[in-house]
Amino acid sequence: MKNRFTISLFRIVAAAIFICFLGTAQAFELQWFGQAAFKLTTETGKVIMIDPFITKNPKTPKALKDLKKLGKVDLILITHGHFDHTADMVALSEMYDAQIGMNADMGSVVGSLGIVPSNKLIRWNKSGTVTPLGPDIKITMVHAEHSSTIAHKGSVFSGGEPVGYIIELENGKTIYHSGDTGIFSDMKLIGNYYKPDLALLCIGGHFTMDPVHAAYAARDLLEVPMVIPMHYGTFGLLKGTPEELIEALGEDDILTALNPIPKVLVMQPGDIKKF
Ligand SMILES: [Zn+2]
Repeated sequence: MKNRFTISLFRIVAAAIFICFLGTAQAFELQWFGQAAFKLTTETGKVIMIDPFITKNPKTPKALKDLKKLGKVDLILITHGHFDHTADMVALSEMYDAQIGMNADMGSVVGSLGIVPSNKLIRWNKSGTVTPLGPDIKITMVHAEHSSTIAHKGSVFSGGEPVGYIIELENGKTIYHSGDTGIFSDMKLIGNYYKPDLALLCIGGHFTMDPVHAAYAARDLLEVPMVIPMHYGTFGLLKGTPEELIEALGEDDILTALNPIPKVLVMQPGDIKKF
């Protein structure tokens, strides 16, 4: 009985922490387009598109496939060279006069192939931080355990190292976008060092972490309070589901009192969530 009371108490505390996170007025807004594509709108109205795969994304609602409807884009971030992360980067950059941030080597390749003009590229590398939207929004490139190639006019070119991003916003809120990645032990370092408030984690499996890997990453390595699953269900091979992630995370109990299990926020393609 006492044990059951304690568990309930811890559930209430965990819920309070969750509500506190959501309650910090309008820190940022996220829209998911399916796969790894997110539109992040910051507190001061800056718009960052991450891994834009929209017009040919089978999971993006039809009504959202018109890129003009985005209204504005201030910056595009690319995690690696595969088409399901880059497909709309050029169109968006041209439409909104937006720069595209990516790993330095991938930048060299897309620049030299003439895919992206060099004045539209922001090239940097892991551990480096850039502030193209002003000093209050810091974007740091971090490791990802994946591969990266660029298919162009029937040939395949090196896309440099795949990466993830830590995005620190004006109000101190920190978002981790994992990119495509397998689980790796330095996620512990990312968790300890950057202390993300929210992690966008791939769960589809086959090419990336599956739900069990993502649960371990979120709970035991990143120790992040909230996870939004991504990169699943888009194609037949990406079989992982948010339900499997939730099951693999387990439930809070007395042993997780000091380190509550991450909450899972399940978005549908097209959904907008305010934080
Ligand atoms: Zn991918």
